[in-house]
Amino acid sequence: MSETLLHSTLENRSSKIQSYRLFINGEYVDASIGATFEDINPVNGQVIARVSEANVDDVDRAVQAAKRAMSGEWGKMGTNARLDLLSRVADRIMDRFDEFLEAEIADTGKPVSWAKAIDIPRGAANFRLFANLVRNVPNESYQTDTEDGFGALNYAIRVPLGVVGVICPWNLPLLLMTWKVAPALACGNTVVVKPSEETPGTATLLGEVMNEVGVPAGVYNVVHGFGPGSAGEALTQHPDVAAITFTGESQTGAAIMKRVADGVKPVSFELGGKNPALVFADADFSAAVSGVARSTFANCGQVCLCSERVYVERSIFDRFVEALTDRAGKLKMGDPFQGSTTMGPLISKEHREKVLGYYELAREEGGTVVTGGGVPELEDPYSNGSFVQPTILTGLSENARVVKEEVFGPVCHVQPFDSEEEALAMANDTEYGLCAALWTQNLSRAHRLAAQIDVGITWINSWLLRDLRTPFGGTGISGIGREGGIHSVNFYSELRNVCVKL
Ligand code: NAD
Repeated sequence: MSETLLHSTLENRSSKIQSYRLFINGEYVDASIGATFEDINPVNGQVIARVSEANVDDVDRAVQAAKRAMSGEWGKMGTNARLDLLSRVADRIMDRFDEFLEAEIADTGKPVSWAKAIDIPRGAANFRLFANLVRNVPNESYQTDTEDGFGALNYAIRVPLGVVGVICPWNLPLLLMTWKVAPALACGNTVVVKPSEETPGTATLLGEVMNEVGVPAGVYNVVHGFGPGSAGEALTQHPDVAAITFTGESQTGAAIMKRVADGVKPVSFELGGKNPALVFADADFSAAVSGVARSTFANCGQVCLCSERVYVERSIFDRFVEALTDRAGKLKMGDPFQGSTTMGPLISKEHREKVLGYYELAREEGGTVVTGGGVPELEDPYSNGSFVQPTILTGLSENARVVKEEVFGPVCHVQPFDSEEEALAMANDTEYGLCAALWTQNLSRAHRLAAQIDVGITWINSWLLRDLRTPFGGTGISGIGREGGIHSVNFYSELRNVCVKL
């Protein structure tokens, strides 16, 4: 990645085809057999980049480089020096903010207002947070009584795991990748990252930043490619990879878990969701409408934390559906670099087929499409993109597939309820358990429900308000383990106890 990405308009971005190569041992290299695949801009269907596709040998090269780095300069570096480097990574991402922004928008089509406020600053914040946090992690110690009266002292130390395989999705590429890379490196590990095949840009660019600030070669490696039979699977099978951290679909998590089982490797999984939002009649009505509009349509519904099941107390149901429909109608699609654009496309034509399939299924299952339900009529070049209408559904049974399965698009089903018990039962009637949003001004009810909803994160009168020190993860098929703050440190380091007889 040599050219600087400048000039924020869709037209002049479209004219230049980038070359995204593998980043191994501090260098950009081609795949060993020269294989490449195309990276498509979902806004207009044009090719953005040719991407080197790593095979098993390339993944092995990356893992061996990462393994050597563990016993080289990086492995011997003091904790403070290591964490200073990571703080500089954060600073350098902010220095090169516009380049990260443009690469992210080119890959995803997300509106500049969102990527500017969320994706890129969070990418930098992840490095800053974990650099600060790891400096201040205390370890436990115990004084133990012994029969001879002299006693023993037990104390714990933390050591890195080794080479960590990081497998990422496409919806928040830099943010979710650095959410795992930053704590892994802060704890002294090295990483081999497999970004999503849909969004290789920012992970590639981050290699330049690592070199610029002096992170030793081999500490951060990037292998591009697909999942099964490609770079993703090769990473999960590699014997020298000590742990796998993965964000993506629940089914992919299950496939990865089978692959790593033979090596008994630790896994941390952040998986899918079918998240409920519960709106009570006592809620601040306009705050609830704004909150649910955001939690349904943000990032074109492609956030694992989005609300796809909305339960509304019957007395305000019609008014709520009408107000939410009004919000959906105000979303503006088009050039992501324009500040007025508020909704981007889905990530790909393939994903659009999946989402449209659910819109059709909703009709077949007897639902009412209150608004949306198809493809918007947009001018060229957006008519070649993967845009889809924001959609609100009602009238489906709680057993309908559309209410049970994760769609991962700008769509929710709104269902009325008559009592708190009924709302709770419907919210919990799912295999998933990532997050919930409660809209009520009754504090007792809010705390009571928060303790009873089977999810990893409950928001009360907000959504996506994140303190990165808090535990993050899901129950059920939404994930295994918790990351965030000390929980990330606990995953990315091994605790060892030392017992000293005095
Ligand atoms: P995905 O599971 O299709 O792909 C994720 C990554 O896994 C990609 O890099 C892909 O190439 C790789 N992969 C696929 N099959 C593999 C295999 N067999 N072995 C190794 N690697 C493999 O997910 P996606 O479509 O990129 O992302 C959307 C999904 O991610 C949604 O389900 C969403 O809810 C979930 N998600 C969860 C969180 C969370 O924090 N819980 C955050 C974001 C996204």
